[in-house]
Amino acid sequence: MKKKRLIITFIIAIIVVFSLAILKYTQDSKNEYIKLHERILLKEARTLYSNMINVRSWAALHGGVYIKDNGTLKPNPYLANNVEYTKNNELLIRVNPAWMTRLVSEISNKKEKYYFKITSLTPINPHNAPDKFEKEALTYLINHKDENFYTKFTKDKYNFMGKLRVEKACLQCHVNQGLKVNDVIGGLRVTLPTNTYERSIELIDSKTDNIYFIIIFTALSFITLIVFTINSIYKKNKDIRILNSTLERKVKRRTKELRDLNKKLSKTAVTDYLTKIPNRRYFFEVGEKAFALAKREKSSFCIVCFDVDFFKNINDRYGHHAGDVALKRIASILNTHTRNSDILARTGGEEFSVVLNNTNTDGALKFAEKIRDAVQKTNITYNKAIIKVTVSAGVACLKENDSFQSMLNRADSALYMAKENGRNVVICT
Ligand code: GH3
Ligand code: MG
Ligand code: MG
Repeated sequence: MKKKRLIITFIIAIIVVFSLAILKYTQDSKNEYIKLHERILLKEARTLYSNMINVRSWAALHGGVYIKDNGTLKPNPYLANNVEYTKNNELLIRVNPAWMTRLVSEISNKKEKYYFKITSLTPINPHNAPDKFEKEALTYLINHKDENFYTKFTKDKYNFMGKLRVEKACLQCHVNQGLKVNDVIGGLRVTLPTNTYERSIELIDSKTDNIYFIIIFTALSFITLIVFTINSIYKKNKDIRILNSTLERKVKRRTKELRDLNKKLSKTAVTDYLTKIPNRRYFFEVGEKAFALAKREKSSFCIVCFDVDFFKNINDRYGHHAGDVALKRIASILNTHTRNSDILARTGGEEFSVVLNNTNTDGALKFAEKIRDAVQKTNITYNKAIIKVTVSAGVACLKENDSFQSMLNRADSALYMAKENGRNVVICT
């Protein structure tokens, strides 16, 4: 779960970083594009400014020009020596560089979409007085000696102001202003319409908006798709894991059930159904092994066989069920008196046998006697009747050349003798 969250976070982070990088690249490209258009505007304005400056310089080079009076121009009242007469007494009006610049500008202002104006913070001619932008631009240029121009966007115009420097010819009129050649005397304003520029910016704006939308939409789609895919992969894995563990649990449970059943079956195979003590089969299987061990270790080893006396009579008198009850009681007495190392079993209908490991004849006789005595003293109650039973016992202890079977035969013979001797006795061979 933690790993899944980590993978999702990592992928989202990559997509976000990648998208931000593309957004940044798009934004930068847009800014570059806008700057390029501003540079184009500036270049256009500078070209127009240079052309006009060249015209002014030409006029300054010649100290201004004289034009024949044709009634359209009045002599410039702010200009010294503003008229001249030819030999034929024709009036020549003197046009100095600044005035010439203004006159050319006026033609352009009427004809073209551009606007020119020659201006100064200290104009001699009030026509040249600066407006708000011009004042701001001129002040800026005077305060920033290294800058040659100042630009500003207004509503739908691009305004450019270039420096105008004093030329020799200018001093004729500006002599009283304490100016020297090359001082900044004012500026030439060039204003361009920005409709083409604005259309380009609008275009790039709408295009970049589309690109932003596509980037964000694509990023979100990728994130959704990847999160969905990872979630379904993990869900599938989880389902498989759950299925596996359920299957494992089932297999374990089944295996345990089988093991238990096997144990039960094995136990049933060697347990007597009535008395719940080991049966004849168990007695022979385990007894043979105990016998072999005793022989190898040369330890004492005895077998005691018990047979209920006149058991048939009990069945006949009290019924078969009563007989069963009596057999169970005798088995219980035997079970109580045998040790864990002993092997007790029901070896016949009303016969019980016990293998006594590490027990000599004396011990075996004492054991057999103890059982005989305990059975004799036991009152078995069945349907309010008290049933008394006795057992006879035959004891055989390990001798040289004995086999398990030969010992059993001897114990059986002893039991037979016990029966012969009046029953309820223990005989050892
Ligand atoms: P003896 O003293 O000579 O041993 O006499 P007995 O009557 O005990 O010997 P006999 O062999 O004649 O009879 C044994 C009887 O044990 C016969 C049989 O019906 C009974 N018997 C064997 N197995 C069971 C059993 O599981 N339940 C009951 N109730 N009786 C059994
Ligand atoms: Mg018998
Ligand atoms: Mg008997």
